[in-house]
Amino acid sequence: MLVVMHRQATAEQIDAVVAAIRRMNLTAHPMPGATRTAIGITGNISAVDPRSLEVLPGVEELLRVTKPYKLASREMHAADTYVRLPLTPDPSPQRGEGRKTPPHPQPLSPEAGERGEEVVIGPGSFTLIAGPCSVENEEMILRTADFLVSKGVHLMRAGAFKPRSSPYSFQGMGLEGLDILARARQRTGIGVVTELMDTDNADAVEQAADIIQIGTRNMQNFSLLKRVARTSKPVLLKRGLSATLEEWLMAAEYVMAGGNYNVILCERGVRTFSDHSRNTLDLSVIPPVKHLSHLPILVDPSHGTGKRDYVPAMALAALAAGADGLLIEVHPDPDRALSDGAQSLDFAGFGRLLDSLRRLAEPLGRTIN
Ligand code: PEP
Ligand code: MN
Repeated sequence: MLVVMHRQATAEQIDAVVAAIRRMNLTAHPMPGATRTAIGITGNISAVDPRSLEVLPGVEELLRVTKPYKLASREMHAADTYVRLPLTPDPSPQRGEGRKTPPHPQPLSPEAGERGEEVVIGPGSFTLIAGPCSVENEEMILRTADFLVSKGVHLMRAGAFKPRSSPYSFQGMGLEGLDILARARQRTGIGVVTELMDTDNADAVEQAADIIQIGTRNMQNFSLLKRVARTSKPVLLKRGLSATLEEWLMAAEYVMAGGNYNVILCERGVRTFSDHSRNTLDLSVIPPVKHLSHLPILVDPSHGTGKRDYVPAMALAALAAGADGLLIEVHPDPDRALSDGAQSLDFAGFGRLLDSLRRLAEPLGRTIN
């Protein structure tokens, strides 16, 4: 259910509606918009009759949200969500010191966090998140961070915790890897995106990351989704290997229902009968995502194809198809990478792709950031 307030509704009237929703044992999600505020309602609404809200001062109308995902749907939130990240890194507190979590739930407001220079993920721009699959050592992370910064890329992705198909494969450097990422962030100013695999490491990953990645295999790990719902960092939610769009948006709903509205979807290929590529990159999911949801969507052409030669074509196609950016694997020496070297671009290859992306972005009216 969505309560749409009048344009002239006062802050007191909005607060009174929020209080009435809470008295019904439901959760209120105030969403200040450009011209009016709407208040989303989640929770079990079959037991109470929310129509009693209709009569409250300042309420214009009540709309039923028909989709099973509510906060993630365009029905409840018509305007596109922009995830904003401040560009100048605050000096990271040491692990364990604890960062204050925001008031809960946070307002679903694009204005939140608007101060100074920032990376904005959402329609109009095209955000590149690039880097090696894994943190392998400090030297290669610093080299990659320096290279990306020199190319105007603001966000680096590298995994300290790696979900590998084989228990005998490199599992990542763990907490030491997070420390390396934190140092690279401090030295170069690059934003850090890294994966959280389990709730045990949530505090440490939240501390080190500007965006927390939830991997494909954990898309329906509901304890993990509930945990990242309580972090102060945006969540990059990769699509499950065999997830339908509805299952994916329901996973996003878990994070949002817990109070974290900064969710970025990431299409990374699904499992089909095809065996010419590692996965089948489902670019056809982009228009329905945009139709049904207000959340930004990135595309990962590296895991989507599994072969570096196929990555540039799919990266350009993602831009043309309306994605909001890319998550792309780049390694200083892909042939010696400890994971996913075959699908990683080297620096020269990434540079060439960046030039092509810039050329294509211009006529499409998009800015690469
Ligand atoms: C990764 O991004 O390196 C990764 C493991 O991705 P996925 O969860 O999509 O397999
Ligand atoms: Mn990888």
